[in-house]
Amino acid sequence: LLLRAMASPRVLVLLPLLTLSTIRLPPMLGNGLDEATRVHLLFAAFKFGAVAGHLVLLIKLNAWLRKKIHSPARSKEQERSSSNTGEDEEEESTVGDYVERLVREKVRRSARSVAYRREAVEKLVGDLLSVLQERLSKSFFPVLQPAIGVGSAFEGWSPRGHDAVYTLLVPLKPPRGHAFQLELGTAGDAPAKHRVRVELECTCTKDTRVGDMLCFVHQPHEALQRSQDSSLLNELCTGRYLDAQKTARWIQGLVSSAWEEVPHSRRYGLRLLPSRRSCKLELTSASGRSLCVEMLVGVQRGHSDLFLSSQAPEAIFTPGTMWAESFAVAEAKFFSHVARQAPPDSVHLQCLQLCASSLTGTVLSSYTLKTAVMDLLTLIPVTSWMGPVFVIRLQDVMAYLRSCLEEKRLDHFIIGNKFLPEDILLAPDTRGAEPLNLFQGLVEDPEAYAKALGEFEELQDQLKELIGALAPLAPLPA
Ligand SMILES: [Zn+2]
Repeated sequence: LLLRAMASPRVLVLLPLLTLSTIRLPPMLGNGLDEATRVHLLFAAFKFGAVAGHLVLLIKLNAWLRKKIHSPARSKEQERSSSNTGEDEEEESTVGDYVERLVREKVRRSARSVAYRREAVEKLVGDLLSVLQERLSKSFFPVLQPAIGVGSAFEGWSPRGHDAVYTLLVPLKPPRGHAFQLELGTAGDAPAKHRVRVELECTCTKDTRVGDMLCFVHQPHEALQRSQDSSLLNELCTGRYLDAQKTARWIQGLVSSAWEEVPHSRRYGLRLLPSRRSCKLELTSASGRSLCVEMLVGVQRGHSDLFLSSQAPEAIFTPGTMWAESFAVAEAKFFSHVARQAPPDSVHLQCLQLCASSLTGTVLSSYTLKTAVMDLLTLIPVTSWMGPVFVIRLQDVMAYLRSCLEEKRLDHFIIGNKFLPEDILLAPDTRGAEPLNLFQGLVEDPEAYAKALGEFEELQDQLKELIGALAPLAPLPA
């Protein structure tokens, strides 16, 4: 069988594509593997990539996926097309269909409402930034770039439904005569260990001279003090380093003073929420509904989709000059990449939203789930997320997450991932980095691990209650 598989031109053609196609590859091996082993295979194949040496693994994996797809109990479509479906089964399937439709409709409605508010937020923040840019155009404060929507609400899912936080990253560019130099710590350091050093640049030459601006480097100190101060260095830095806390306070001040000038701002009551490293706004409409907008600032790493961001865990004290590496823009770009390829009825966002909104604990986070779903989106072709496969894909997410928990290994989706779409731009050191295990904490802390397992079981129960159609999974290791 193995030799036949090796000789099969379809297999050989498909292998370099790294596509774990559920349809095209023929099933070569028997189904003697148990569910857990198959999940491990899926997991292992993803970790090591589909190189020729892993042919056997791939074939086994494919057999598993193929069996899953064709299992009548798991695919409603198969059920319908199957000629020997009995009446009882049909009835059961109708009830199942109904529940599934109901759950999906609820998730869809919540997503539509978030999408509607997302557009309003984008417009409002765009207008706000235009007012601020105009105000700052002659200053030596950082230059605010157009905001980039990041996080779940902008990726198209929302663990908190209507209470979504609309997060936007506002990239900062240095003003004239200044440059940002990034001093990077080790990738994945938590808390952040990156700094943004502010340098002055000579603007004496014709190319760089702007109006009657003095050169910060070559003009006498007195002349500069008299007529041209570096607001960036004097007000937003600590030493020579850009301070995230001072910058956040600066943005907060700007927003409250400029709010009246923003078109349509009167439609909302504005309240600044306390935040040390971002600008958090609560906007309340005339009807009394409020929404939360969080503006982070960031400095782009070269021309990549990676940023040093002002965001840092609130619980941990992070000095103002320390910045966190943010993958949020790259991740949001991955979701847009999938959305461009996926058919409109793709279930990936609904799966993610349902799982994330059913989470109750503190160890497994919605970021864990998002990472698992992003992994699966690169493993399972986008076309296999369409049609009546909601429950199947939900089971895949849970099975994958379970295998990761068993292995205590879930790699960061961006760091060291060589299989990202090419339009996601990474810094070379990020693409070539060693994978970063998000579950490292579970390896080191048995208590946290036990808690994570408990939370997983709870999540599974929640989903079973909602959908009632999740296939029983083997018990977790103690
Ligand atoms: Zn100069």
